[in-house]
Amino acid sequence: MLFNFVVSLPSTSGNPIQQFDHIILGAGCAGLSLAVRMAAEPRLAQQKILVIDKAPKAGNDRTWCFWEKQPGYFEHLVHHSWQQLWVKHPQGALPLQLDGYAYKMIRSIDFYKHGMQQLAAAPNVQLHYGNVQSVDATNGVITTDGGTFKATHIFSSVLLQEPVMQPDEFYLLQHFRGWFIETEEDVFDEAAADLMNFRVSQEHGCAFMYVLPLSKRKALVEYTLFTEEVLTDVQYDAGLQQFMQAELKLHIFHISEVENGIIPMTNLRFPAQEGCVTYIGTAGGRTKASTGYTFQHIQQHSEQLVKALLNNQTTALSMPQRFHFYDSVLLQILHERKLPGADVFFQLFQRNPAARVLRFLDNQTSLWQELRLMNTTPWKHFVPAALQQLRHLRRKVG
Ligand SMILES: Cc1cc2nc3c(=O)[nH]c(=O)nc-3n(C[C@H](O)[C@H](O)[C@H](O)COP(=O)(O)OP(=O)(O)OC[C@H]3O[C@@H](n4cnc5c(N)ncnc54)[C@H](O)[C@@H]3O)c2cc1C
Repeated sequence: MLFNFVVSLPSTSGNPIQQFDHIILGAGCAGLSLAVRMAAEPRLAQQKILVIDKAPKAGNDRTWCFWEKQPGYFEHLVHHSWQQLWVKHPQGALPLQLDGYAYKMIRSIDFYKHGMQQLAAAPNVQLHYGNVQSVDATNGVITTDGGTFKATHIFSSVLLQEPVMQPDEFYLLQHFRGWFIETEEDVFDEAAADLMNFRVSQEHGCAFMYVLPLSKRKALVEYTLFTEEVLTDVQYDAGLQQFMQAELKLHIFHISEVENGIIPMTNLRFPAQEGCVTYIGTAGGRTKASTGYTFQHIQQHSEQLVKALLNNQTTALSMPQRFHFYDSVLLQILHERKLPGADVFFQLFQRNPAARVLRFLDNQTSLWQELRLMNTTPWKHFVPAALQQLRHLRRKVG
């Protein structure tokens, strides 16, 4: 792969600081999603773009799953997709009516490779590997351990300092360990996946398994929790082992790969913009607070940003405030644990058309659809949580 690498010495050595139109910090999901779209846009071909990351990607460090109806921008990278989804609970199993949605998986290694190939082919894009040490948002100056760079505008998926939490904000973690398993016999239906299987111990808080078959003999089984504290490796492995035997009735299998991850689930306000820096990705608050899903929100944001750039702007519309409120209510319910998270999600899917729930989790529903969803929640718990969140909101606005 041919690439325009930038090697730049700090300005103190007398070398001029290299100037760009745009610098993108981080070549992960958000940085590459934006950079690839900018590189593909002929109307931005005259703009010099620098992408900075601390190191090249060495492997498949994550798999992204998400739902959508239409083929997406990275459709050709979809590794597997499912037309049938289940939500399972000790009380029953719900086959979801997806109304045209498919649940899709992209392996990060395929995404990184494709992204880097696209950028290498774009003459106006350069890449620099270095650890970002400081960002001067007033003057657009980035310092890494390998050089200093300047741009008119910066898009950053790198947060050098986390925003300060307010006392009324929640910071839960979606933490998980997944096993890619292989069996000796055909056991899986590769067209059907468990989106949430709550038939696991809830002793640590809201916990469920993803079961994502990739073939009749291969699946990703992921033990996922929405709680404040992570588990030990031994606890994750014990949970997975127990589920294999008790729920999947699998005693003989081979683990070919392990995926670990932690995703913030928080209603903390991430900065959207600071001086000439626009924040993107998780650093820009694009992780859905109540679910941890991020991939699709990043894609929507990247698309909006490229449109904005074509109009000489650098910010995109943020999501309607009411979705922040719904997320806060759900986080409060999960945090307080008066109502088991397993029951909340199971009932949401049991009492509403699945496609409406998925649209809601994508922040795409109308107010009318949201009222209908709210009407199906256990009022005894949701009304006090909603009132408390409204009070917090009024304090912030007032
Ligand atoms: C294991 C895992 C699985 C996930 N699965 C899903 C999923 O199925 N569906 C979904 O919607 N979301 C998922 N997520 C959440 C989310 O989609 C990912 O975290 C996503 O990668 C976020 O994109 P990002 O660009 O904000 O951050 P990243 O992809 O982490 O990119 C940030 C980049 O910045 C670079 N960087 C950081 N600090 C510096 C520095 N100081 N200097 C230079 N470079 C730096 C990093 O090397 C990295 O490349 C998952 C997350 C994890 C961790």
